[in-house]
Formats: sequence, structure tokens, C-alpha cells
Amino acid sequence: MGSRSVRDGKGHRAYRRAQAALKRRTAAENLPCGYGSPTGEGCGQPIDTTIPAGERMSFTADHPQALGNGGRLVGQQLVPMHLTCNSRKGDHAPVEIWAAS
Ligand SMILES: [Zn+2]
Repeated sequence: MGSRSVRDGKGHRAYRRAQAALKRRTAAENLPCGYGSPTGEGCGQPIDTTIPAGERMSFTADHPQALGNGGRLVGQQLVPMHLTCNSRKGDHAPVEIWAAS
């Protein structure tokens, strides 16, 4: 299964690396949804990183600073979240959810 390459902009590759690293850490340390979020997002429940990307409860890496808000991909602390919890925030276009594999 290839992952979708949606954007090839600046910092995209670094972001993918950071996202994959967070996924590994989430699995290894059982990080809950919203772990480390400065704004308290997330439901606090465990994330099953084996769930295929795109499923409601699959792993996503949230960037707390919304890109549409002047946020940058690089240098941000990423927050593990369920896809459904992440999309609930409403500041993400669906194309920003990438498979982290
Ligand atoms: Zn959640």
C-alpha cells in the first residue's frame, strides 16, 4: 500500500519523518489521543496505530498550529490524535491527513 503524496511543498519530507516517528512512539509508549496538546485537544483514549489510515479511529499526527493560521509544518510539536478527533477541530482540510507508514 503506497501512501498518498498530496503535497510536495517545503518541509513536507521532514514532516513525514516527524509524523512517522510520532506514530512509532505512540505505539511504543501507548500515548493517548491529544497527548501533549497545548490546547487540550483529543479524547485521551489510546490510539491503535495498526488501524488503517483513513479509518475514523486511525492514527493521525496533529499540528497544533493550524496551517491556515500562519502555522508552519516544520518545528512544530506534533500531537497524536484519532482521525475523527483531529477532523473534529475543523481547521484541517482532508488532504492534510497523510498515512504515516
Ligand atoms: Zn481521540
